[in-house]
Amino acid sequence: SGPFLSVRDLHVRFSTEDGTVRAVDGLSFTLERGRTLGIVGESGSGKSVTNLAVLGLHDPRTTTITGEILLDGRELTGAPERTLEKLRGNKMAMIFQDPLTALSPYYTIGRQIAEPYRKHTGASKREARERAVEMLEKVGIPRPRLRADDYPHQFSGGMRQRAMIAMALVCDPDLLIADEPTTALDVTVQAQILDLLGELQQEFGSAIILITHDLGVVANTADDILVMYAGRAVERGPVREVLGAPRHPYTWGLLRSMPSLRSDPDAALHPIPGTPPSLLAPPSGCPFHPRCAFPPEVPGGPERCARERPELPEGRGAACHLTAERKRELWAAGGRPP
Ligand code: SF4
Ligand code: MG
Repeated sequence: SGPFLSVRDLHVRFSTEDGTVRAVDGLSFTLERGRTLGIVGESGSGKSVTNLAVLGLHDPRTTTITGEILLDGRELTGAPERTLEKLRGNKMAMIFQDPLTALSPYYTIGRQIAEPYRKHTGASKREARERAVEMLEKVGIPRPRLRADDYPHQFSGGMRQRAMIAMALVCDPDLLIADEPTTALDVTVQAQILDLLGELQQEFGSAIILITHDLGVVANTADDILVMYAGRAVERGPVREVLGAPRHPYTWGLLRSMPSLRSDPDAALHPIPGTPPSLLAPPSGCPFHPRCAFPPEVPGGPERCARERPELPEGRGAACHLTAERKRELWAAGGRPP
């Protein structure tokens, strides 16, 4: 049998009044059970869109999806909504950045965790209520039996995030997609929530996709990393290798712009100049070329970056025309061509 989740040559396009947005442009990755894949990129890089496509939560009237999404051998692209709805919650679940988008203000927390469990398992009201209390306990809510009767507004931001995790995990999903799950929380609570996800993964064995713009978040949480830029994957590999020895100028730039991950926190930060391109008219060749400092260093010269699209190899690698040796020299010299 193949990998648990396999996404192959995924293209996601939206039609808008201004034209077609190529939100995801030929993306491939795989994920195994019990592993965490961090998908990293700026907003508009296609990381959230990819995962909405996996879950079948895109708007079919404006969105065109081609390519292959196999979950446990089952094809999800083009699957009927009924099938997808059954899979959501049961086989796959989502944790959003803002728990208030997932939690209703009108029902108690306990009821909102119990309902999907009843729906997917046919458990009785009483069993589902017990299960909800048990889940609240697992995610570290104190006095869970009592707090199950609270409404979302009676919970703090961190506790709401825990409750949403409980809701996502109540049916024991095989795939959990967490989109910026800690962005709205303060640093201490962030770390607690990420630890909690790790512990629950140990217990439930789920595969996790962690979507974030923050390399610091994946550094401590993910096994593998996929860096996205302008709807394409530009680098992938085991977290330690990618962060320790990046192979794409964009990844290297992200690392240099992040204080928390650097060996010398007092050294100057170097934000990547420029902004991500419009996906209505993506750049030709390498999508990063309008912001990249290194096209003159590429064998074949800068025209090659503007013309020839670099492919991302299977396994560890980056989509860039620079030679490995030249990258090492450039990184060592702080990005100034020696
Ligand atoms: Fe920069 Fe060229 Fe590499 Fe793209 S292919 S990242 S433009 S050097
Ligand atoms: Mg997003």
